Order: sequence, then C-alpha cells, then structure tokens
Amino acid sequence: MTSTPLSVLTDYHTHTPLCHHAEGWPSDYARAAAGLGLAELGFADHSPMPAALEPFDNWRMALADLPRYLEAVEEARAAFPRLTIRLGLEIDYIAGHERWIEELAGMAGWDFLIGSVHYIAPGWDVDNPAHISRFQTQPVEEIWRLYFDACERCAASGLFDFIGHPDLPKKFGHRPGGDLRRFYEPVIEALAKTGTAFEINTAGLRKPAGECYPDLAFLKLAREAGLGLLINSDAHAPGEVGAGFDQGVALAREAGFTELVRFERRRRLPGAKLD
Ligand code: ZN
Ligand code: FE
Ligand code: FE
Ligand code: ZN
Repeated sequence: MTSTPLSVLTDYHTHTPLCHHAEGWPSDYARAAAGLGLAELGFADHSPMPAALEPFDNWRMALADLPRYLEAVEEARAAFPRLTIRLGLEIDYIAGHERWIEELAGMAGWDFLIGSVHYIAPGWDVDNPAHISRFQTQPVEEIWRLYFDACERCAASGLFDFIGHPDLPKKFGHRPGGDLRRFYEPVIEALAKTGTAFEINTAGLRKPAGECYPDLAFLKLAREAGLGLLINSDAHAPGEVGAGFDQGVALAREAGFTELVRFERRRRLPGAKLD
C-alpha cells in the first residue's frame, strides 16, 4: 500500500458506452469513484472525427453523440454533487487534423484535453488487436519509430493539456532492444517546450505489457525536465476506476515525482502531494 491516500488522487481518463467498447455510464463511474473516495473523476471518451471522415473506425463516439456525452456527465455531477467531476476528451492526434482538434476544443467547456496517438499510419491503430500480426511483419524498431514520431508531433502541437499513454506500442509486449531513451527524449523535449503534461496510465498493468505506460526510464527523464504528471486508469468499466493506483504512485515516486497536477477549465492546478 502507498501512503498517498486515494482521497487526494484524481482519475481523469475514463470512457463511456458512446465509444462502443466501454461499459457503464458516467453516473456508474462516479458511484465507483465516490466509493473509493477519490478527490476527482474525469471523463475522457474517444473523440469524434469530422463528419467527412466518417465512418472512421468502430471505437469512438459519433459527433452526433457529443450532446449525449455532455448530458451524461452533467447527470453524474447532479447525482454525486460532492464529487468533483471534470469534463475531458481523449483526442486522437493525427498529423493534419490540427484544425479539427481546435474545433473540438471549442465545442464544450472542457476541463482538459488528452492528446493520444493510436494511429501510426492510415488504418493502423497500433493498440488494436486486429493489427497485432504487423508486429511479426515489420521491425518493432520501425513501429516504435512511427509511434514516437507521431507522439513528438502531438506533444509539440501544444493543443493538449496532457498526452495519453506515452509508450503505448509496448501494449502487446513488443519492445525494441537497447536503451529506449532514444525514443523518449524528443517527446519529453516537446512536452517541456509546450508546457504539456503527461499521464501514468495504469491500463498497461492489465495488458500483456504488464506495466504502466510509460516506463521508469521515461518517467525519470520527464522528472528531470520538470513535466507535470497525472495518474489515470483509462477505465473502460466502472470497476477499473482507480485501478493500479498504488503501483502508479509507487512508480511516480521511484522516478522522483513528489506531486501531481490536475486541471480545471484547461488551467493546470497543483494536485496531490505524493508521500
Ligand atoms: Zn478505448
Ligand atoms: Fe488511448
Ligand atoms: Fe482511453
Ligand atoms: Zn486510452
């Protein structure tokens, strides 16, 4: 057990059924968060694509469902008035989508926007089990390079409050050889330059990777660079809220982090002290 109580922690990365692969409505997540005694809960469902690009894939909310999303978060706020509930979105960063991302940013009173890279090439979402065979046909080094180049552009865009799951291509257990800091350094530099924070995402613990995203080496570099950090579950079901937070906190502390950040209306605020 960590000595940092859940009552000071926040979980800003949770999903809803509107993305077609998560269960539980915001009120169900809020009940779980209140039960754990978390300080704050945030929603960050997978962002809509512009109508012209639909149908894009089968794992995000439709633009037409955005009002339902906002309503469902409002319902959770009304049902759990003592829990601070933040409104966010997990936006796919794809080069060339910057104007669309700016449009999304104006569509609601977001507390935070997560920039996540899933697509490393058109039609190839690197974390989708449907494409796992590509790890056999393409060098892992190249797959990681595609991902981290996109992640660097995501960080450099300055469009987001924090980036999601920074070393996602390890999800199925594929890691290149050698010192992986060659992938991390440009991303961390871009995050520092744009004042963008990042998350420890505990979902990796529940995947073949068997550890949080990102790894300790990334976290140590990020600490040296003075980056802001959050710890999130990426829950796709209410039972996953706050999952693995003990391990997330221990990892953050091991890397030298002493505090977290949180967001309100896209302003960064001091978060929990890690002790
Ligand atoms: Zn998802
Ligand atoms: Fe994601
Ligand atoms: Fe997510
Ligand atoms: Zn995610």
